[in-house]
Amino acid sequence: MPFREIAGHRRVLALLSRAVARGTLPPSLLLAGPQGVGKRRTAVAVAEALNCLQPQTSHAVAEGHLTAHSPRGGDPAAALQVADGFEIDACGACGSCRRIARGAHSDVIGIEPGDMGSIKIEQVRDVIDRAAYRPFEGRRRVVIVDEADALVPAAQNALLKTLEEPHPASVFVLVSSMPDALLATVRSRCPRLRFGPLPASVVADALRRDHGYTEAEARAAAADADGSIGCALAARSVDLTEARAAAQRLLEQAARVADPVRRLEAAKALTARPGPRPAAERDQLAAVLRVLASLLRDLGLLAVQAGSGETLANMDLHADLTRLTSAYDSNRSQRAFGAVDRALGALERNVSPKVVADWLCLQL
Ligand SMILES: [Zn+2]
Repeated sequence: MPFREIAGHRRVLALLSRAVARGTLPPSLLLAGPQGVGKRRTAVAVAEALNCLQPQTSHAVAEGHLTAHSPRGGDPAAALQVADGFEIDACGACGSCRRIARGAHSDVIGIEPGDMGSIKIEQVRDVIDRAAYRPFEGRRRVVIVDEADALVPAAQNALLKTLEEPHPASVFVLVSSMPDALLATVRSRCPRLRFGPLPASVVADALRRDHGYTEAEARAAAADADGSIGCALAARSVDLTEARAAAQRLLEQAARVADPVRRLEAAKALTARPGPRPAAERDQLAAVLRVLASLLRDLGLLAVQAGSGETLANMDLHADLTRLTSAYDSNRSQRAFGAVDRALGALERNVSPKVVADWLCLQL
């Protein structure tokens, strides 16, 4: 997958593209950040850009030293094809790009945790042996260590020697959501690139474009995903569109109705959907509660800075939420948010979903 097709992270991607174009990419890198935001995809994009047979290059680079590497580097027409201002990007379509994307390129090696959840020294030794020689078919060999924090200490120490004296044609890309779990000696060898959570709008776009979500599903999933596409995909088993509608109905009812009996009626709707699995009811309620928390956080934001909806997780509900601020001022939003948080905790401790829903409806 070329840089231009990765969701978000424009600054980091531009940095990597520039380094690839100018031949200044460090021999080892650590891509750090939350799970499911595109770190591994970025590592693959680097491998593709380094080995693409028909890379797209920008004008500035086309006139510079890249021409030696790129068959089309000197062609001004090629400059017009680079999207998003990247100095170089893979074509995504040549034999090299396609083999890398399939995991079938002999010079792009991936390591990841095995069945026991760790990366063993044997896996690392095998890669170190291969990385000591010139690439077979590509320009650069790229070793991608996914979930690098799972490397056992002996494996990290074995890797360290190679990181200290890498083969000039080899690049090591470590990917981790817990970079501080790596040995300090390894960390110090690998310049760190930080990946933050993605804005909800970027997650929603990616879900729609790459994963077949409808507009409504994508928005609902993105609002509940903490800026992680992977998180959104993992939560797919619950009906997030329904959860989001239920959370919104609940808030609107709580804003209008103070009568406890009628509020408890509303609580029934939260747990009245028997699912195929015993855990489904609990999962569905948890999904409603997480959406509710996200809506309340947005209400809290609107209460202190009315108008701008740019920072909201539920930007598409801006108008609905703004209407609710007459009932939900900053204090009430915060109190309700605290109650939702306690309700989620109770669900995790296996308190019955019905009890949790009843309690919460009286607190909002
Ligand atoms: Zn290509």
